[in-house]
Amino acid sequence: MSSFVKDRLEAVRASIERAAAANGREAANITLIAVSKTIPAATIEEALVAGHRVFGENRVQEAKAKWPELKARYPEIELHLIGPLQTNKVRDALSLVDAIHSLDRESLASMLAKEIARAPRKPKLFVEINTGNEASKAGVAPAEADRFIETCRERHGLLISGLMCIPPLGEPAGPHFTLLAKIAERNSLPLLSMGMSADYEEAIAHGATHIRVGTAIFGARGRSSSSEGEPSIERKGA
Ligand SMILES: *Cc1c(COP(=O)(O)O)cnc(C)c1O
Repeated sequence: MSSFVKDRLEAVRASIERAAAANGREAANITLIAVSKTIPAATIEEALVAGHRVFGENRVQEAKAKWPELKARYPEIELHLIGPLQTNKVRDALSLVDAIHSLDRESLASMLAKEIARAPRKPKLFVEINTGNEASKAGVAPAEADRFIETCRERHGLLISGLMCIPPLGEPAGPHFTLLAKIAERNSLPLLSMGMSADYEEAIAHGATHIRVGTAIFGARGRSSSSEGEPSIERKGA
């Protein structure tokens, strides 16, 4: 059976294949994270029925409301937290998610280390880099990145898997992807979370291993049914 989401998922998968082939890469090495923030469970289920299993949410609260029930019915779901994480939500996040893309400060590294030690599952961790040095945006400044990664590893004993960035709006994304790949390489980090609906093909050309795609799969995000409307992707964690 065809559906809006299924058709769009197939189109995105096809362009991932094309971008991978054009860059001498295997599409199998690129994880498509379907970003389902503000998307209701019934629509998410269209993607599940179409066989997709990897999803991204940007708020722990919203993930808690939507995902336990879906996970009960589709146990192989892999959930990624791609938005800011407050230290007092770390325990909740660890009970639900398989990867955290927003490690960006030492207080969070410290809390993660403490909670991961007693958690049943170890999430993949990505350090978020503020490649554009934007005051409004979360993430570690590029100049601080090497030191921060070392602090996470040495002082907090965290296993860091990769880096994540959200390039500034209205700027070409390429140089930001290049910078992220460079920081990852010199720190021996294998994973790169970069590329969204507008630029995932370019991110693949720059080595993305995880692309975070919402609109191209689910359509434009409307207002959520909660009174808050759509959360900004740029909000800093507290
Ligand atoms: C919302 C969001 C995305 C997806 O954005 P689209 O343009 O809808 O693909 C990717 N990454 C983060 C961090 C987001 O918050």
